[in-house]
Amino acid sequence: MHYVSTRGTAPKLTFEDAILTGLARDGGLYVPAEVPRISHGDIAALAGLSYEETAFRVMRPFIGESFSDEDLAGIIVRAYAGFDHAARAPLVQLQPNHFLMELFHGPTLAFKDVAMQLIGQLFQTVLHRRGERVTITGATSGDTGAAAMEAFRGLDAVDVFILYPHGRVSGVQRRQMTTVSEPNTHALALTGTFDDCQARLKDMFNDFAFRDDVRLAGVNSINWARILAQVVYYFTAAVSLGAPHRAVSFTVPTGNFGDIFAGSIAKRMGLPIEKLVVATNQNDILHRVLSTGDYVTQGVIPSISPSMDIQVSSNFERALFDVYDREGPAVAQLMDALKEGGEVRISQGAHGRLREIFTSGRVSEAETLAMIVRARAEFSEILCPHSAIGVEVAQAHLGTTPMITLATAHPAKFPDAVEAAIGVRPPLPARMANLFQQPERVTRVENDLAALQGIIRGKVSV
Ligand SMILES: *Cc1c(COP(=O)(O)O)cnc(C)c1O
Repeated sequence: MHYVSTRGTAPKLTFEDAILTGLARDGGLYVPAEVPRISHGDIAALAGLSYEETAFRVMRPFIGESFSDEDLAGIIVRAYAGFDHAARAPLVQLQPNHFLMELFHGPTLAFKDVAMQLIGQLFQTVLHRRGERVTITGATSGDTGAAAMEAFRGLDAVDVFILYPHGRVSGVQRRQMTTVSEPNTHALALTGTFDDCQARLKDMFNDFAFRDDVRLAGVNSINWARILAQVVYYFTAAVSLGAPHRAVSFTVPTGNFGDIFAGSIAKRMGLPIEKLVVATNQNDILHRVLSTGDYVTQGVIPSISPSMDIQVSSNFERALFDVYDREGPAVAQLMDALKEGGEVRISQGAHGRLREIFTSGRVSEAETLAMIVRARAEFSEILCPHSAIGVEVAQAHLGTTPMITLATAHPAKFPDAVEAAIGVRPPLPARMANLFQQPERVTRVENDLAALQGIIRGKVSV
């Protein structure tokens, strides 16, 4: 199994090298050279298996020789041991034919843990085998950073630097990053937006001298292992509702397009998925491009669902690569034009193919709050604002096919928004009840590449 860049000129890599590399050297993202198929019979055989066993069977064909069966099985078991629900990603029913998949049972209460815990174990295993160290860097709108710090804390083969937009993450999100005490973890508060964080991260990866010097590795959703880990729960959910004999649909609260893209991989593997519905907040670039074919960036308007406050979705490039017939140069041209002019038009053919796979909806702030109220009254569920956006968009797509909406975070992670809607502050689970009593450790940094690189060079141990 080999991985190729969406921009067509970076070298082909094995799974192991693709995950250690993160962003390809031509600026693209790694994708599998081909998506393995899983037969009807093999999907049927997943019924009744544990999450871990399903994860092994779904991920195995993507991994090739990079990890032995025994290593992979151990990695998966260690990754999910800290989840507080036996099913890992349980379903609850909201309405007739509408189910919520709870992806927030990991250590930082958001679905990012599902992928990040796996990546931590993958990295540790491969770096020990090679006798190497790396510097993990990530940009976060809140949830990725906490999940990364939690996954890598104390692992001896890595230093972790997480960039987050100063003042633009929730108190719980911030504290989940700044209270991690292990000396290999560093929270960096950047003056700017999440897009600024993401842009500086890309700049660091494109500075090859720096990148090689500190042995930079990325765990943002550009990392293929993130996507792969997320493919798994599309299978567990679909199978528990009757796949492969019955098709299902998914609605996914979307920001960087990683989670929903994982759903499209599951579909291409052969899982019977009827609709993949992209749910956005008021930062609706994905809803606009899927509706019209015009990919037009606008400024980010901070919302009550901050983990979806993005201007450009990195993983959308992976979807574009597929609908542009996997022609790297065409994707490179498109992305360059977007970077320069802030907008591009997707070709009619490519737009048509996108619409065969994805549909979309956009939810305003008022509608988000209203859905939190309704879900409590009618479904007896307290939703985080991101999940509420999913449930709201799903309403327009309910029918005879079971709909599964992804609940991407625990409501206690966004207590202000939930309290504004229903007047109740959802409590943190007992295992993290002392979060607000712990000391914080954070470094402020300007939105400036050189300043950022200086801080990282000063702290790394490679
Ligand atoms: C990251 C995140 C999202 C968006 O997921 P993408 O993979 O970036 O589309 C949605 N909700 C929550 C709570 C998140 O943390």
